[in-house]
Amino acid sequence: MTVTTRFAPSPTGNLHVGNVRTALHNWMWARKHGGRFLLRIDDTDRERSKEEYVEGIRADLAWLGLDSDGEERQSARFALYEAEFARLKAAGRVYACYETPEELDIRRKVLLSRGLPPVYERKPADAPVPEGVAPHWRFRLDHDAPIVWTDMIRGDQHFDPKSMSDPVVRRADGSWLYLLPSVIDDIAMDISHVVRGEDHVSNTATQMQMFAALGAAPPAFAHEALLVGTEGKLSKRLGSLGMDALREQGIEPVALVALLARLGTSDPVEPVTDAAPLVGTIDFAHFGRAPARFDEAELALVNQKIVHQLDHAAVADRLPAAIDAPRWHAIRPNLMTIAEAADWVPVFDGPLTVAPADEADRPVLAAAAAAAPAVDWGADPWHALTNAVKDATGAKGRALFLPLRRALTGRDHGPDMGELLPLIAKDQAIARLSAT
Ligand code: GLU
Repeated sequence: MTVTTRFAPSPTGNLHVGNVRTALHNWMWARKHGGRFLLRIDDTDRERSKEEYVEGIRADLAWLGLDSDGEERQSARFALYEAEFARLKAAGRVYACYETPEELDIRRKVLLSRGLPPVYERKPADAPVPEGVAPHWRFRLDHDAPIVWTDMIRGDQHFDPKSMSDPVVRRADGSWLYLLPSVIDDIAMDISHVVRGEDHVSNTATQMQMFAALGAAPPAFAHEALLVGTEGKLSKRLGSLGMDALREQGIEPVALVALLARLGTSDPVEPVTDAAPLVGTIDFAHFGRAPARFDEAELALVNQKIVHQLDHAAVADRLPAAIDAPRWHAIRPNLMTIAEAADWVPVFDGPLTVAPADEADRPVLAAAAAAAPAVDWGADPWHALTNAVKDATGAKGRALFLPLRRALTGRDHGPDMGELLPLIAKDQAIARLSAT
């Protein structure tokens, strides 16, 4: 069996971290098995679907490195849906319904008030058909066929079709709801595994019978626990956290991939600079049933750990020209994002504004300014300089190092001065030491 997965977004908005997680797991599963990963654009809703969102989805997947083996669009497949619908109609598996939403709502309330489950009640075959009303269509669940499957994450699933409403599959205006076209496509595209959120579990129950009604074996299913924000619920912020915002915050795509690959699983998050080693490790048996918590602070931390490992060659095209390989290597451990590298250009090349030194630190700085001209900048200037100042003033430890770091970099913290100082021009350094 060739493993084929699909990511099936509706292009009615931008991808957020939740969708991206689903896309990622489908992609990983396909790649792990040398299979195929398809992008299926679920654009049956012609009014809400927008081309700009389709383009955005493609761009976001490309940014994340989730390459697909093909793209399909539901809007180009209506003829197939029509044919399969006719087949189900002829077999009596879809039937016309005429209730208005108001009628259905009243019926639901009546059932609930009697303590009964609000399940749709089929009309008798000889019920009168209202004149001049276009019907909508429901799929007839087979009440005698129990619905069971072994979910790759949730284990054995069991649904009683008698307790479920026959789902509406087509509206009165002829437009399609998601359920049936998705099954038709999963069959036509030989989808072997469907990985999606657990909000689809009850859809899956009805879709199991649609596969059977169309004469096909269902794919395997993995329903993932949903992603929640740090406050433990499906936050608005999370639902709207798009790739643009993350890119702007300096998040590397591989950081998001590394976090989402493992979040909610029993495997630890690994800050890898390349997704390849993660791909083979996806295992739905390691996915938990509890909601996975997405924490932006954790993402920032993973990102930071990745930035600290990136080679100059990998980031050179995103750095100011002044940040060459030795400078990148020196500042890298102090960066949260690659963009922050630009903040260090003035430290190397000026102009740098430094707050006036504390009175108590002036002797150290004066000694440094006096000693610096004789220091060989090509050897190990930091040790030569600090040794000279120590000899001249007796200062040591923090009282020696901190005033020098402040005067030379304008900051209290930063890279190892032994690595940094040779990368600052000697005349710049002397000027800074003399300025305070
Ligand atoms: N378009 C559906 C959605 O976005 C696809 C669900 C599925 O994967 O089957 O929810």
